[in-house]
Amino acid sequence: MTEKALNPFAIAQQQLDDAAQRLGLDPATHELLRWPMKEYKVLLPVRMDDGTTRVFHGFRIPYNTARGPAKGGLRWHPDETIDTVRALAAWMTWKTAVVDIPLGGGKGGIVCNPKELSETEKERLARAYMRALGSTFSVTRDVPAPDVYTTPQIMAWMMDEYETMRGEHHPGVITGKPIALGGSQGRGDATARGGIYVTREAAKAHGIDLENKTMAIQGFGNAGQFAALLGNEILGLKLVAASDSRGGVYDPGGITPKALIDHKLKTGGVKGFPNATAIDNEALLELDVTLLFPSALENVITRENAGNIKCKILCELANGPTTPAADEILYKNKVVVLPDFLANAGGVTVSYFEQVQNTYNYYWELWEVHKRLDEKMTAAFKAVYEMHKAEGINMRQAAYLVAVARVAEACRLRGWT
Ligand code: NAD
Repeated sequence: MTEKALNPFAIAQQQLDDAAQRLGLDPATHELLRWPMKEYKVLLPVRMDDGTTRVFHGFRIPYNTARGPAKGGLRWHPDETIDTVRALAAWMTWKTAVVDIPLGGGKGGIVCNPKELSETEKERLARAYMRALGSTFSVTRDVPAPDVYTTPQIMAWMMDEYETMRGEHHPGVITGKPIALGGSQGRGDATARGGIYVTREAAKAHGIDLENKTMAIQGFGNAGQFAALLGNEILGLKLVAASDSRGGVYDPGGITPKALIDHKLKTGGVKGFPNATAIDNEALLELDVTLLFPSALENVITRENAGNIKCKILCELANGPTTPAADEILYKNKVVVLPDFLANAGGVTVSYFEQVQNTYNYYWELWEVHKRLDEKMTAAFKAVYEMHKAEGINMRQAAYLVAVARVAEACRLRGWT
């Protein structure tokens, strides 16, 4: 089997096994953390605009709830599988633990191609999903959020369906909502902003100057676009390359992030951006840039291309972009890897802030969200960096040790193990 064909859940388990061994976890705790505690699989018959009915497959996996209610996004993607959802749910468990918010981890999704669905079909699909799984969701049990190809509008439809089922307001049942319906200030760019704060700390720790240095972004979607904007605004980085599912563009002289976002809005992709040359995803990853942000999907940096990665800092906004074999090569080559569940934890952190505000029914100003997010991300980076230094292990292994130890402790204190 080539490494690319590796199942993301097998990778997530392999990473956990490594942490369990280093921590000396007892066999019962290790087994408990290797698997989701629950899994839901649902069929969703949906009436299409042409009058036919299509049956979609949906999943929800609350992976571990020892530290609090499950939390994690909903991905709508044609390649969604139960094992992708399991892996993402496991990573959510480690992510909420590494930023030390009182939540567990979960993930869900629907096998579909949203690009082929009309707005009304998407609404019926969102409502069908909530009808099928609504009884498992609540602010005290499991709280979904957006992920790849799901939006604040989709969250709003799901919240409305849930509240209709319950006959009362429950905005905290789902996060990533539009602000007018109880969304938090600062949720839109939170994932990228958290990654930028962590990058700032990593650059300080490693003595890397970022001002006027270059960045490349694979996956110019929600996380990727805000990384371009904030990387420029907060860290002074210059965007030189970006890609999406339709292709990539490269301009060593620099690309204005806002202009590229406008171009994508107009044309549907980054391709054809004026004065830039075309670049494929493989070449983009191997560019000689200071910062690389993989911000699309899993397993793009593997044993085959890891040796060619030239960036100084690799900030994983995507979940699972680097395979374990690639990790070892990057570590040897002294690439500073900011592992996914640390680097992209800003999204779930502000989702948690959203839940808190919904529960209090009192809302914070944008500056408060940014300040609290910065504090959480900086503290998480420091905990992981100290572990990395103390144990002489790479940053992903260090992040696992910090997170898994916290989840294992909660399981033990509950008397589960
Ligand atoms: P998104 O749908 O907004 O963007 C994904 C982008 O990736 C799109 O532009 C798409 O065209 C592009 N893409 C898809 N396949 C590609 C390919 N083969 N090559 C290059 N680009 C490709 O999704 P998002 O919310 O930005 O999520 C991106 C990644 O970040 C995912 O791994 C997700 O799990 C992770 N993430 C997102 C959040 C969040 O709050 N949005 C939080 C944590 C992690």
